[in-house]
Amino acid sequence: MSSQESLGVTTFEIYYIKEHFLSTLSLEFQNQLVPRYRMSLRSFTKPVRSRSRSRLSTFSSIFLRSFSHISSQFTRPSFGIAFDIDGVLLRGDAPIGGSPQTLRKLYDDSGVLRIPYIFLTNGGGFRESKRASNLSEVLGVNVSPLQVVQGHSPFKHLVNRYENKLVIAVGKGEPAAVMSEYGFRNVLSIDEYASFFDNIDPLAPYKKWTTTKGANHEKTIADITEKKKICSERVEAAFIVSDSVDWSRDIQVLCDILRTGGLPGREFAHQPNLYFAHDDLEYQAAFPCERFGMGAFRIALESIYNRIHPHALQYTCYGKPNPLVFHNAQAVLKLVSSIHQSKGAANTEAHHFKTLYMIGDNPSVDINGAIQAGSPWFSILTRTGVFKGRENHDKYPADLVVDTVEEAVDYIFKKEGIS
Ligand SMILES: [Mg+2]
Repeated sequence: MSSQESLGVTTFEIYYIKEHFLSTLSLEFQNQLVPRYRMSLRSFTKPVRSRSRSRLSTFSSIFLRSFSHISSQFTRPSFGIAFDIDGVLLRGDAPIGGSPQTLRKLYDDSGVLRIPYIFLTNGGGFRESKRASNLSEVLGVNVSPLQVVQGHSPFKHLVNRYENKLVIAVGKGEPAAVMSEYGFRNVLSIDEYASFFDNIDPLAPYKKWTTTKGANHEKTIADITEKKKICSERVEAAFIVSDSVDWSRDIQVLCDILRTGGLPGREFAHQPNLYFAHDDLEYQAAFPCERFGMGAFRIALESIYNRIHPHALQYTCYGKPNPLVFHNAQAVLKLVSSIHQSKGAANTEAHHFKTLYMIGDNPSVDINGAIQAGSPWFSILTRTGVFKGRENHDKYPADLVVDTVEEAVDYIFKKEGIS
């Protein structure tokens, strides 16, 4: 039996898990990992079958330690749950639908996990570790960074292409910190980047807000040599990590970058690559009606770009409903489940989920994605967010429609015979 067979996962899943797991660690901790460990993780993507059990044990033991809160006494369930966040568990920062007490049902009395679950959100802007910490605080349960899969998480797979090339990160939160955590070494937030170009935003003097400037920014902006270097260095790609805060400035600067081959103010040239973490048109925040999301920003940018440039904008969108997101989620849930049953040792039998539940509020994103991913996904639509209909959604009907996430989990427990 090969190493990955002993864990019951495929080479692709090991690759994803390895990439995902490394990204959940802080850079400082990654650097502390002995090179042997990092190499052993890298080696999983190639000659997996020739790897020794000792290397697998190294991987397993480090990974398992991060899940020390998982119960080892509960029989491993044949199902897992993926929760959307906005409009299902939270509205803004406030819990909804009985989410705290619902998530507590997934843990035993001593607070250890008994049902494998993850958060599968298109949202983002913060590192997975930071988001896990925030969710733990707001929802009152112990969330591991591995359980947080965000819209921008797949960007980590593009590190090899852009590792040392200048890339721009756009969005609320800490978009450049997210990309740095993934391994991008030459990344600037669009706030920082725009600040190097005099008068690039003619509306800036009229804006009442200021952007947060880190220590690195203050040091470089005072350095005229650095400014010249940045202004003459070609931007190789732009990543929309999270929702744009200043649409007018961001659309202006992105058009400058994209139509000039990555050198704002210069002549037209080939468009650099453009990536969106997702394409949600709307999402449910604290306001009673839905708010414009990254998909709305994409439409605005694309419409303007296509009016000022002879060639249509080229871009790639990640996030739900892309079925690949659900396949990745399945890989993470499988790992959580494997550890859950065999804490402290590699599992000795392959494990296949009979059912994976996707609980979401957005038919075109959560339900559409689960439908496209197919078996073993089972979709549950809540009425606490984007969807507020009485019956099922016409275009993307869910397998089940409920009022709240609590009702959804109660249904799952009943169906699965869990008390
Ligand atoms: Mg949602």
